[in-house]
Amino acid sequence: MFDLTGKVAIVTGGNGGIGLGIAKGLAGAGASVVVAGRDAKKSADAVAALGPKAIALPVDVADKASIEALVAETVKRFGRLDILVANAGVTVRKPPQDLTDEEWDHVLNVNLTGVFQSCRAAYPHMKAAGGGKIITIGSMMSIFGAPFGAAYGATKGGVVQMTRAMATAWAPDNIQVNAILPGWIDTAMTQGARSYVPTLHQSVLERTPAGRWGAPEDFSGIAVFLAAPASDFVTGTAIPVDGGYSIRG
Ligand code: NDP
Repeated sequence: MFDLTGKVAIVTGGNGGIGLGIAKGLAGAGASVVVAGRDAKKSADAVAALGPKAIALPVDVADKASIEALVAETVKRFGRLDILVANAGVTVRKPPQDLTDEEWDHVLNVNLTGVFQSCRAAYPHMKAAGGGKIITIGSMMSIFGAPFGAAYGATKGGVVQMTRAMATAWAPDNIQVNAILPGWIDTAMTQGARSYVPTLHQSVLERTPAGRWGAPEDFSGIAVFLAAPASDFVTGTAIPVDGGYSIRG
């Protein structure tokens, strides 16, 4: 039910943070994992940690041609694509009135258009194989607002709705599409957030019922579930992995 032996997965942004936690889960369950990112050194280190069935391929998800080349190269090397984790993401923390057009466009290009284009590129290969699994990454900003997150929140709200739309469109092709909504996780991205909002570290600890920040490895199990036959009747969901942050009144 949770065996991924013989399956091939792409994890965008799989070379660090949450993406690497997901990649570890998928590799541990037997999948061949393509770690896709921009930073070749980080990707090489990730592949070394993941073991012999992992490879690194370059991608810039702000560039449609780069995404399409990634999917084509994956299928050329492995002959199939079963699992896509569209995880790569960025943020620019500023009050809305200070966001430039360039910053707005960049966050949307990576976090929303890049996810859409990744899913669209993967779709024909999954359809031809008789099924597949797509995992997108939302955020607490898919649910809540933050004064520094207008562009980021727009993308993460959009990712959830796009996930639901794709889930309905592709269910007849036996492709399940689900979103994970991480709570506050200790990664490079939130190290930046903690510098921007000095009270953030403590306020997350106080609000999170589990009493801690999340770790990338907290995403290994949910990713295996959503990538495996165990979730074949689960689609269009947005599952918080947040230590209870989002249900705290
Ligand atoms: P990190 O900054 O640690 O990782 C982001 C990853 O995205 C990196 O591996 C980076 O790879 C990749 N990436 C960024 N831009 C591009 C690009 N243009 N093309 C290809 N890859 C790119 O952050 P997290 O692990 O925290 O974030 C992962 C996902 O989780 C994001 O979607 C984020 O929005 C989401 N998230 C994180 C939360 C948290 O608390 N940490 C909370 C909610 C959501 P490279 O360095 O090679 O470019």
